[in-house]
Amino acid sequence: MHKMLVVDDEHDICDFVRNFFQERGFMVFTALNGDEALSIAKKESPSVVLLDIKMKGMDGIATLKHLREMDRAMKIIMVTAFDDQDKRDEACRLGACDYITKPLELDHLEQTVEKILK
Ligand SMILES: [Mg+2]
Repeated sequence: MHKMLVVDDEHDICDFVRNFFQERGFMVFTALNGDEALSIAKKESPSVVLLDIKMKGMDGIATLKHLREMDRAMKIIMVTAFDDQDKRDEACRLGACDYITKPLELDHLEQTVEKILK
């Protein structure tokens, strides 16, 4: 069973994505901020992380750096409401596998996750 970590400072998004992937057989953990994400990632070693960029405190880019230091194999998909080419490039350089924009389209999200886990 694949473990997934969903990191977003919006409760509703965490719940929505968790329900969707739980129904598809994933074990899903959620975190509302970067610190929480790092401690869950350390304990659970998820194979895939959905990581919101815009969060209070440690943002998604900083969290991405820490996750990469922790585990090079973890697949990380950045999620953002603002499609910003600079952020996209930076995330890619830091080792994010993909980049998707909100509002989340679940079919697209599922395809992206499946592609990355192959
Ligand atoms: Mg956010």
